[in-house]
Amino acid sequence: MSRRAEILDEMGLSPRWTLREGFVRTLPTAAPGTVTGAPAAADDARSPDTHAVPAAVDAQDRGAAIMQMGWTPLAEAVAGCTACPLAATRNCTVFGVGDRQASWLFVGEGPGAEEDERGEPFVGQAGRLLDNMLAALGMKRGDDVYVANIVKCRPPGNRVPAAAEVAACEPYLHRQIQLLQPKVIVALGKTAAVTLLGKEQSIASMRGKVFRYRDTPLMVTYHPAYLLRTLPDKIKAWEDLCFIRERVAEWRAGAAQDLQSPG
Ligand code: SF4
Repeated sequence: MSRRAEILDEMGLSPRWTLREGFVRTLPTAAPGTVTGAPAAADDARSPDTHAVPAAVDAQDRGAAIMQMGWTPLAEAVAGCTACPLAATRNCTVFGVGDRQASWLFVGEGPGAEEDERGEPFVGQAGRLLDNMLAALGMKRGDDVYVANIVKCRPPGNRVPAAAEVAACEPYLHRQIQLLQPKVIVALGKTAAVTLLGKEQSIASMRGKVFRYRDTPLMVTYHPAYLLRTLPDKIKAWEDLCFIRERVAEWRAGAAQDLQSPG
């Protein structure tokens, strides 16, 4: 079987993607980019939950108030949020799910119909594909992995969220990132990548590069829902996952070397 046929087989026919030894394609390492669009990190990242519901947040101070929240108040603030028009049409807010000490953060665009029903990101077909993508990286949801979206409420008809909706919801994700302090962020799709990087760019121009969200390496691949609609691009997503895995392996090897070096 040709290599291409083998890849197609892995992508299209198998319900689970599996990286095999010697199968990883080597892609050129891109120069790290610098991101300036993200807000300043708070000093109290990973601060303990306060278990206090915040008082009514003044619109002007809303962003600052969110940046002070622990996990529980943050989740409660999202659950009761009416800061943008998406509140009027949602069934459930979708806060995010996974290991709150995770090294890996995967960020999508927004909830779809099933997520809106269940209140959990990436369920249904796209969720199963994400789980396969995680498996390809040797990971699984909830185990050192956290999954969240740019907007926490479903845009009607699964449309791309409007800029004002993204702007209203962004502080929640930024605070989630501050609390998580992930080691790697993977942006799934253009909305997630552009929002986190604060710069309009095409997915094609961002693939195979390492960016930074503040000090955290950020890499980009396609959104699973897009891949379900555009099967040929699964090959590109596979390449992205290989690239991500290679970079992480390099960083881990570098960290291990640093640890072994005499001080
Ligand atoms: S999308 Fe975000 S900002 Fe808009 S109502 Fe939902 S939680 Fe609030």
